[in-house]
Amino acid sequence: MRVLWCVWICAALVAALPFPDTLDFLQQHAWGIDGVRHESILQLPHTALHVSAFSKWWMHMWGVRYMDITYTPESVCGPHASSVFPAQMHHQSELMAAFLQLCAKQLRKHLEKLTSFYTRHYRSASGKASALWISKVLEEMLAPIPYASVRTFDHPWLQPSILVHFQGTNASLTETRGVTLLGAHIDSANMLPFLRAPGADDDGSGTVTLLETIRVLLAAQWRPESDVEFHFYAAEEGGLLGSQAVAQSYARRHVLVRAMLQQDMTAYVAPGTSEHIGLVEDYVSAPLTNYLEQLAKVYLTIPAVRTQAGYAASDHASWNKTGYPSAFAIESAFASVNLGRAHTTKDIYSAPGFSFAHMLQFARLAAAFAAELGGWARSPDQ
Ligand SMILES: [Zn+2]
Repeated sequence: MRVLWCVWICAALVAALPFPDTLDFLQQHAWGIDGVRHESILQLPHTALHVSAFSKWWMHMWGVRYMDITYTPESVCGPHASSVFPAQMHHQSELMAAFLQLCAKQLRKHLEKLTSFYTRHYRSASGKASALWISKVLEEMLAPIPYASVRTFDHPWLQPSILVHFQGTNASLTETRGVTLLGAHIDSANMLPFLRAPGADDDGSGTVTLLETIRVLLAAQWRPESDVEFHFYAAEEGGLLGSQAVAQSYARRHVLVRAMLQQDMTAYVAPGTSEHIGLVEDYVSAPLTNYLEQLAKVYLTIPAVRTQAGYAASDHASWNKTGYPSAFAIESAFASVNLGRAHTTKDIYSAPGFSFAHMLQFARLAAAFAAELGGWARSPDQ
């Protein structure tokens, strides 16, 4: 059976390569030669393994779940944050007004561009170009906002992570309660190397959800009281590489983090199921997940359902590992997630069940998370 697989994969690869520019193609759209030669350290539940790039890919193909700790072999923990979250909501009128500005067309416009890159693989030139495009969109959006900044967080591979910082009005409040973080991953991957990886749902959806969240919050004149950041992580598909590097850098600088929310896959409503969102219960903070459930009850128009991933499924796990409170919201209970199309050429926004309206629910959740935990200062000048 495995021999048949190899024959099929080799045939697919040869068919996919545009001779005679094969090497140039690989450098632009695939791992690059460095990536093929690269060795990794993979953290499995009970052991760590040193493996070649081929073995890593092979393990991924066969569904082995790991965190790649090659660049963060010695993990440190950040300062301890409170696990008590507000009992009440304070910004319903501001948020409900902001939600009126949410626009599915904006989501679609950004997702069309994001999925037009051949791949967003973190070791590819097109993966880097896609990150720089996201950075440019953010810079243009935030240019008029003096209390917001965008920076690239460089890694030892081509694609950077992009970090957006909103400075709160009350620095001492940030010092005591910490910074509020929201994340999505910007890279994509095809299970078969060198093939196209549109990654519309995984995690183009989470990425454009955050872009739209920022847009509507700013349109509603939001400025937080304590600092809030939006993170666009590189290399999640490589084993949570980008988020581990960022989380470790925060821990080593003793940055206090109040809470982190990851949104990875926000678009799919499986045909025949009733629309809901999934709140993942493993590799997360239980008190923060309880709080997220309260936010969903107040701010969403669809129910939230508890679910289990069974592994460190996305970048929230990097923050959880570093001792910071993190939570993970996904498009549905895990049994109905779009995993059949993820990591294939079929992860496109015209797929059946792909819903921009569903993504807007996640923009509501993200905006509520940012404003209720970071606060909403009365005027932008405060
Ligand atoms: Zn993902």
